[in-house]
Amino acid sequence: MTDVDVAIVGAGAAGIGAAKTLARLGKSFVVLEASHRVGGRGYTEEILPGMPFDLGCHWLHSASLNPFVQVADDLGLTYTEEGFPRDAFSGGRWLTPEEIEDWGAFFERQEAEMERIAATGEDCSVWEATERDSRWTHTFDYIMSLHSSLDTDQISVIDLMAYRDTQENWPIKEGYGTLLTRFGADVPVRLNSAVTGIDWSGPGVRLTTPKGTIAAGRALVTVSTGILGAGDIRFTPDLPDWKHEAVAALPLGNHNRICLAFDRDVFGPDASHGVNAASGDGDQMSLNIRPFGFNFVVGVTGGRFADWLERAGQQASIDYTEKKLQTVFGTDITKHVTARIVTAWRGDPWVKGAYSAAQPGQAHQRARLAEALDERIHFAGEATSPDFFSTAHGAYLSGIAAAEAMA
Ligand SMILES: Cc1cc2nc3c(=O)[nH]c(=O)nc-3n(C[C@H](O)[C@H](O)[C@H](O)COP(=O)(O)OP(=O)(O)OC[C@H]3O[C@@H](n4cnc5c(N)ncnc54)[C@H](O)[C@@H]3O)c2cc1C
Repeated sequence: MTDVDVAIVGAGAAGIGAAKTLARLGKSFVVLEASHRVGGRGYTEEILPGMPFDLGCHWLHSASLNPFVQVADDLGLTYTEEGFPRDAFSGGRWLTPEEIEDWGAFFERQEAEMERIAATGEDCSVWEATERDSRWTHTFDYIMSLHSSLDTDQISVIDLMAYRDTQENWPIKEGYGTLLTRFGADVPVRLNSAVTGIDWSGPGVRLTTPKGTIAAGRALVTVSTGILGAGDIRFTPDLPDWKHEAVAALPLGNHNRICLAFDRDVFGPDASHGVNAASGDGDQMSLNIRPFGFNFVVGVTGGRFADWLERAGQQASIDYTEKKLQTVFGTDITKHVTARIVTAWRGDPWVKGAYSAAQPGQAHQRARLAEALDERIHFAGEATSPDFFSTAHGAYLSGIAAAEAMA
C-alpha cells in the first residue's frame, strides 16, 4: 500500500507531463506504467547501431506552438524544418511541378470547404465534405488516413478543423521516443505495473496492480481510448454512460511504420528525401528516403488498410514496402536491404491502435472525455486535447492541465 496524493496511470507524454507538474507543485504521486518502458506511443529503437528509428511519433507537429521543440533544444537533440515528403511518383513517372501544384491546390480547396462546413456547426464526415471525383481524391484519402489514423468516412470535419495546424512538421534525428525517454528520466516510474482496477467507491481511490494496491487521493488516467474502450481497467463503480459514450466516440485508428535499412546508400546524392508512391487508383505509400542521411527508408500505412496489412503479418508489410520502392527506384533497389522493423500498433496490448479521431457528429466528446469524475478520477492523454489531439505535445499539455486542475 502506498498513500499518495495522485496515482498516475501511464508513463506516456501525458503521464510525464502530469508527473513533472505535480512534482513542481509539491504534490506526492506514483506513476504506474504497464509496459517495460517509459514513452508509450513515443518509442525509438536502433534499426542498426547508430541508426535511430521511431516506431511511434516522429514529427514535432505545429512546431512553433510545440513545447517539445524547447525540450529538444535543452536536451541537445537535432531536428530539421524540412517537413513532409513532397515529391510524387504515379503511373510509372515522377509528377511534374505543375501536377504537384495542382495537388496542393486540391488540398487547399478541400480544407477551405471543410472550414466552411465546420463554421456552420453542422458536422459531417471528411468523406462527405470533400470532392470524390478528382485525380487527387485517393491521395487525399491516404494522407488523411495518416493524419487521423482513420479513414475519411470515419472522421468528423468539426474535429479535424479544431486541430491547430501550423503546417510545421519537424522530424527529430535521435527520435521522438528518445526525447520522451530522456525528458522523463527524472520521473520515478513503476514499470510492469498494469492497473487492472480502480475502486472509487470509498474516500479517495484504490488501484489494483500486480505488485499490490495503491491508495491515493485521486487517479489520473492517461491510457488510450483503445485501452479504456476494451475495458482493460475495471472501474468500481463503473464509469457513467456518458463517459463510455465519449470513449466510444473517439476511437483509435491505425498507423504503422515499416523501416527497411540498407547496407549502403542505394539512392545516390540527388535522391528525393521523400516520395508519395502511387500505383493505380488507391494503392499509395509515402516513403521517407534516407532521413538525416541514415541508410534506411520508412514507409507508412494508415486507416483500415494499416489494420489489414498488420493482420496479414510482418512479411506482407515488408513485401508491400519493397514493392513500392521497386516501383519507383527499380527492382534492384531492395537487394541491399539488411534489416527491417515493422510496427503493429493495433496489436500493442497497451495502446490497441494509433491515435484518436472523433467520429462524425462527435467532436464535442473530447471535452467530455477530459471531464473529471467526482474530483477523484481525472483523465488526460492525446484524445482529451481540444486542439492538439493525435500528437505527443497535445498529450503532454493535457497532462500538465490535468495536474494543475488537480492541484
Ligand atoms: C505510428 C504513430 C505515429 C505517430 N506520429 C506522431 C508524430 O509524428 N508526432 C506526434 O506528435 N504524434 C504522433 N503520434 C501520436 C503520439 O505518439 C501520441 O498521441 C502520444 O504519444 C500519446 O501519448 P499519451 O500519453 O496520450 O498516451 P500513450 O503514449 O499511449 O501513454 C499511455 C501509457 O499508458 C500505459 N498503459 C496502458 N494501459 C495501462 C494500464 N492498464 N496500467 C498502466 N499503464 C497502462 C501505456 O503502456 C502507455 O505507456 C503517433 C502515434 C503513432 C502510433
